[in-house]
Amino acid sequence: MARTSSVAGETLSYCTSCKMDLNHVIVAMKGDKVIKVQCLTCKKEHAFRPAKGATEPQAPKASKAKKAASEDTENHSIEIEWEKLMSAHRDLPGKPYSTKGHFTLGDKLNHPTFGDGIVGKLIYPNKLEVIFRHDVKVLIHGGTPQL
Ligand SMILES: [Zn+2]
Repeated sequence: MARTSSVAGETLSYCTSCKMDLNHVIVAMKGDKVIKVQCLTCKKEHAFRPAKGATEPQAPKASKAKKAASEDTENHSIEIEWEKLMSAHRDLPGKPYSTKGHFTLGDKLNHPTFGDGIVGKLIYPNKLEVIFRHDVKVLIHGGTPQL
């Protein structure tokens, strides 16, 4: 079966001609992102624009789930993952991050720029994949093994 976000699938997009959120057929995609859509109402093809919904740009997102636009879920999945990890590691003391520090899987660290993160992966020999709230970063640490 066709998934929601694939070419020829349907997605909710803002139509520049009809000037409202309408169902569109996906015409072109790049990776997981919808690039071009065709309005089912006016049949016009145009660049994909996210549905405006309630048109409150700064409003926190408590709105009901719109049709899963995969680019949205992708952005949010990191934050959801991060929140899960953060609550799972609530009692863990955060270590201040430093390239000379020594970290291991599941460590909570505090980065001066990215904030709190959890080590999600160790990359041999001296890198860490750290899940921060908005991004996953690869950081260096001092775990160079002795030869
Ligand atoms: Zn239209």
